[in-house]
Amino acid sequence: KLASREFSVDRTVVRVGGQLGADVVASFGDQAVSVIAGPCSVENAAMTRDTARIVRASGAVALRGGAFKPRTSPYSFQGLGREGLEILADVRAEVGLPVVTEVLDVRHIDMIAEHADMMQVGARNMQNFALLAELGRVKRPVLLKRGLSATVEELLMAAEYVMANGNRDVVLCERGIRTYERATRNTLDVSAIPVLKRETHLPVIVDPSHAGGTQDLVAPLSFAAIAAGADGLIVEVHPDPACALSDGDQSLPPDAFASLMARLAPFVAAA
Ligand code: PEP
Ligand code: MN
Repeated sequence: KLASREFSVDRTVVRVGGQLGADVVASFGDQAVSVIAGPCSVENAAMTRDTARIVRASGAVALRGGAFKPRTSPYSFQGLGREGLEILADVRAEVGLPVVTEVLDVRHIDMIAEHADMMQVGARNMQNFALLAELGRVKRPVLLKRGLSATVEELLMAAEYVMANGNRDVVLCERGIRTYERATRNTLDVSAIPVLKRETHLPVIVDPSHAGGTQDLVAPLSFAAIAAGADGLIVEVHPDPACALSDGDQSLPPDAFASLMARLAPFVAAA
């Protein structure tokens, strides 16, 4: 299998940026921890630009932000769509960070690839095999998040769908799984990190925000992820979490993100 360590003893390093003119090129899978940060959703141009400046100043190497949002309720904010993608592209030009955004639908792939440096497949789409196969034909790296109740093997097979269709640049993301425990939004499967590092040459990052679901858990889960061998983190940051249109409870305000990054400095890749 293409993702297996039998196929490649060398670890894959996935580079993000460098195709659309970002001045930072993030790399995942080399020695250092690379941090993606930004709002859950692109809400407007000003907050996206402000957040990008803040996270870059604190040491993040890529900006996250959803333009198409997979909301549980169809009545919740669904994202700005194409306008959100245009904001992300403008912010890349202004702030210099590569941008990572979610692709929900095969019909949006080309439009998203024109605007984004990395294509995120969300947990709810991890086994959308048609989407995965189409992303195999796109010349952008893919961030593949683990499904809410997917096994490690199923995550790896989802990566195979992308790779077998021609795209070898896949970064895996552990973002917590659904268990009986309700004290956290999801249960961060820390074990999955060393298991994945044993089974695959692909980089593995962790999303402490969606795993824990509250601000106070982001730092401890980040340290746990790094201790377990994660190649990076994806962290939600919002200039005013109380007013966020999605995931405010788990989004760090700028000062908390800055102090987390200061504490992570010994492990983190310099921008
Ligand atoms: C997100 O990153 O905002 C998101 C929706 O994550 P997940 O797919 O892991 O729930
Ligand atoms: Mn979110």
